[in-house]
Amino acid sequence: MATKTNEVDQSASINTIESKKIKKVLKDPLTTEPISEEGENPGSNSDKGFEGFGFSDKLLDTLSKKGYKEPTPIQKAAIPELMLGRDLLGQAQTGTGKTAAFALPILERIKTKQGPPEVLVLTPTRELAMQVADSFRAYAEGNPEINILALYGGSDFRTQINALRRGVQIVVGTPGRVMDHMRQGTFIKNKLDCLVLDEADEMLRMGFIDDIEWILDQLPNERQMVFFSATMPSEIRHLSKRYLRNQAEITIKAKKKEAQLIKQKYIVIQNSYKLEALRRVLETSSGEGVIIFARTKAITLRLAESLEALQHNVAVLNGDVPQNLRERTVERLRQGGVDILVATDVAARGLDVDRIGLVINYDMPFDSEAYVHRIGRTGRAGRNGEAILFVSPRERSFLNNLERTVGQTIEKIEIPRNETINQHRIDKIKERIYEASSMKRDTKEEIELLEKLVDEITNDLKISPKEIALGALNLALGKSPLLMQDDEAWLNQQFNTRQSHDRRTDRNRSRRRNNFDSSSPEKDKARYRLEVGYRDRVKPGNIVGAIANETGLQGNNIGRIQIFDSYSLVDLPKGMPTNIFKNLKKVKIMNKELNINLCN
Ligand code: AMP
Repeated sequence: MATKTNEVDQSASINTIESKKIKKVLKDPLTTEPISEEGENPGSNSDKGFEGFGFSDKLLDTLSKKGYKEPTPIQKAAIPELMLGRDLLGQAQTGTGKTAAFALPILERIKTKQGPPEVLVLTPTRELAMQVADSFRAYAEGNPEINILALYGGSDFRTQINALRRGVQIVVGTPGRVMDHMRQGTFIKNKLDCLVLDEADEMLRMGFIDDIEWILDQLPNERQMVFFSATMPSEIRHLSKRYLRNQAEITIKAKKKEAQLIKQKYIVIQNSYKLEALRRVLETSSGEGVIIFARTKAITLRLAESLEALQHNVAVLNGDVPQNLRERTVERLRQGGVDILVATDVAARGLDVDRIGLVINYDMPFDSEAYVHRIGRTGRAGRNGEAILFVSPRERSFLNNLERTVGQTIEKIEIPRNETINQHRIDKIKERIYEASSMKRDTKEEIELLEKLVDEITNDLKISPKEIALGALNLALGKSPLLMQDDEAWLNQQFNTRQSHDRRTDRNRSRRRNNFDSSSPEKDKARYRLEVGYRDRVKPGNIVGAIANETGLQGNNIGRIQIFDSYSLVDLPKGMPTNIFKNLKKVKIMNKELNINLCN
């Protein structure tokens, strides 16, 4: 039976922990702020930082080098229990510091210098396995004799066997690969006496429950077991009842103030306009790293291609991406070599990159738990983050569920319009100029050379400093237009669709005609489809130019142009002569035939 943590007298501890009580449910979450509730301070060590846990000097030194000053709430509550060797059932999400909560006490209990594994940490995905193994390595910096191995599928079996033979004390692995090694005897189990199940609910969702039970049954009678889960479905409760003994139970609940570190928003958008909405949202994002979640591998590829065509720095993370490339991709994202990651749920699980400022749910997650995991990729290590969810008019009813799960309102926002985007572009340029003006060149020689260059240009061209500055700006900005002037009619349509949805739910609604409906052509015009789009880098000017040249039409006779990912729509006067139509088919924009067709 579970013993609540608040019933444990910690004065009996072998550590120097003072005897105060831990509340069962701790309120506080995604930050590392200490918590205090009703006068009780869980873990009772807040005054002492990490020192009150009885850690070795080496470990304290490592933590201080890493800049960890205060234990997070989950650490305050879990570490004393784990240092006592107790089993533990912890409900906490990623971003709460739960990895250190179990890794630090585990490192302190490693006894052997070499030999078969003493500790096994199971994670649902290889990404999380690698990440947790990396955290262990970082915390074990002062103890180079402790070997840590990440064991996951998709990586060379033989290399893993060799590493196991050389001796590792801590294995962090995914269930499938761990089972394989155990079955064929390359993972020797007889020294194994501690097991951690990380993100247990996720393992359940991924169908690992039988594998986990098989692995749990391999452990000796005398062992420590620790389960961490973001949510607590009944299956995990049953599992804990079966395997945990006299366990401490800790729940870290998201307190509103802290959960709001991630600003959650949604945009109602019809599927056919999602890519354009994404383009606009990205234009106004803060410039930090972004993760875009898509439902399938195929969508991740399509999106990445389209964003690349728009000059974004993009990478894909899905199940088809080989393991070594995945690792490199995450590293590039961390270092700023990639700004946007387009990912599927599984591939981005557990991803911990501090510079993710925005998560875009391009496709609705499968359930609320997936939503919580997705948005948890931002707001890392106490930073602010933003999450934007694209919702089709039909999916709106799911919002209530999500709001209930996260315990806060998800705010409705509009798709950014040209005006907002242009203001954002101008602000960004200003920022870049401010930054550049305070940038110093490496050598005095370079500075002098550049100053001389400015003098020479001023004299040669007889131009003012303002003209030189404008020239330099043009150089920096390149040829692409500074201002976005794309057709916004479809935005009005989105707006009206939403309004009409709202009106439908309103009994007193009155029907209004939609003057901006871009779903039908303008008066006296027919709508044509061209097989060129954003991914071909086409701009409205290119389309007007091509059509005007070929048909002799004046620009003002060419109607609304809507550019999409792989095609565009254009309204042209009705009754186009067949020969012109045929010629227009073969006209090329950006080296691609228009292949024009009349829409139905
Ligand atoms: P986790 O919940 O284990 O994924 O950890 C989230 C992030 O918090 C990681 O980047 C950790 O390095 C960081 N972290 C964990 N504990 C602390 C602490 N006590 N002080 C500062 N940062 C921490």
